[in-house]
Amino acid sequence: MTKDKNTAEEFINHEEILASMAHAAEKSRDRAYVESLLDKAALCGGLSHREAATLLEVEDPEVIEKIFNLARKIKERFYGNRIVMFAPLYLSNYCINGCTYCPYHSINREIPRRKLTQEEIRREVIALQDMGHKRLALEAGEDPRHNPLEYILESIDTIYNTHHKNGAIRRVNVNIAATTVENYRRLADAKIGTYILFQETYHKQNYEALHPTGPKSDYAYHTEAMDRAMLGGIDDVGLGVLYGLSTYRYDFIGLLMHAEHLEERFGVGPHTISVPRICSASDIDKDDYSDGISDDLFCRIVAVLRIAVPYTGLIVSTRESQQVRTRVLELGVSQLSGGSKTTVGGYTDPQQAEETAQFDVSDNRTLDEIVGWLLSTGHIPSFCTACYREGRTGDRFMQLVKSGQIANCCAPNALITLKEYLQDYASPAVKQEGLKMIASQLEFIPNLKVKEVAQRHLQAIEQGKRDFRF
Ligand code: SF4
Ligand code: SF4
Repeated sequence: MTKDKNTAEEFINHEEILASMAHAAEKSRDRAYVESLLDKAALCGGLSHREAATLLEVEDPEVIEKIFNLARKIKERFYGNRIVMFAPLYLSNYCINGCTYCPYHSINREIPRRKLTQEEIRREVIALQDMGHKRLALEAGEDPRHNPLEYILESIDTIYNTHHKNGAIRRVNVNIAATTVENYRRLADAKIGTYILFQETYHKQNYEALHPTGPKSDYAYHTEAMDRAMLGGIDDVGLGVLYGLSTYRYDFIGLLMHAEHLEERFGVGPHTISVPRICSASDIDKDDYSDGISDDLFCRIVAVLRIAVPYTGLIVSTRESQQVRTRVLELGVSQLSGGSKTTVGGYTDPQQAEETAQFDVSDNRTLDEIVGWLLSTGHIPSFCTACYREGRTGDRFMQLVKSGQIANCCAPNALITLKEYLQDYASPAVKQEGLKMIASQLEFIPNLKVKEVAQRHLQAIEQGKRDFRF
């Protein structure tokens, strides 16, 4: 059921983005129209890129507060107070691309290059398991000699097959360079979770200037990667732009057009959207990028995304400080990384030179500290990985989310996986707070049967059993 307009320049149409920017600038001052958009968005069916761009352009503080309130309501309705936890795992910083904003670019001679062996990966995974992680985002530069797909596939296998005490990595999301349909098929066969690929910027001219060398310099090949991933059988894909590389308005609209294209062509929009901002590291200074965005604007982007694509998970990494993460949590973010190391080998070698980091981490707290903080702010840290293990991916997943039925899985799974964390990894103080949270939240599970089964699983976890899921 494929349709036309499948080339990058067709589905990310430059003229349409410019026209949408002009439309948003004009219509954002039309209070009645903006109110009608908020009414439409309140029905939780999402907004078009033009409509969302208009909301993002609003300057009236009263209306901005309404946007924030609606984002909070939508977040509450679809995601409740649950926050899914994950950590990145850097396999290799060898890269043949020339991305000017990333310290792994090929001509950076300051950064020590490193690639983990399978034994080193096993040790990193054990360290991550000992923190309590169950979900990883695997990261590697593009380098067919050092990091061929075979290396990535072998590493995924090592990760899934590493078990230490009660630890297990149950979902490996993969963030590697754009590749062929055939290679995506091999990744799908390796049972990856989400395939993540940031577009960086949708602005073709800027993209080409920011990617002067290497395979990634091909705008069309990069932009059409998610289409190939889906054709290769990967149901869940994660989009993102790196805010600061181009004007945020352009990239915000481009991102939503990309999501609309995937929905139109494959019947499934992106599983997740990440919202990274440019960070300093090694030979990269974020102040060199004049399109950087303020914290306030960042919060507005998160809120309007939450309204525009209510069914898509929103991810914020440790690039952001505790203060900013606190603000965006309530506005729509549903996944957070915690205790992250953005260095190759950083989980087992704390002395590992920080100069191998892809970006500077702003939130340096341990996972236990982040879990404690989330609990203290009324959130349930969730280590759930149930959906793709139960085959709830792609359109099947989206149907459950759209009907609201997914909450019958997310809520008990959050409590069960939190209980595992508390039993196996939490500090005494966090354990105490977590147990209180579980007891209070059990009461909110409306379905009596689900509640009863969840209670049984919680007791079984105390007796040493693991890995229950709805
Ligand atoms: Fe390589 Fe990715 Fe960094 Fe570009 S952004 S230099 S592709 S690791
Ligand atoms: Fe995510 Fe599915 Fe778990 Fe809900 S049940 S938290 S959607 S994996």
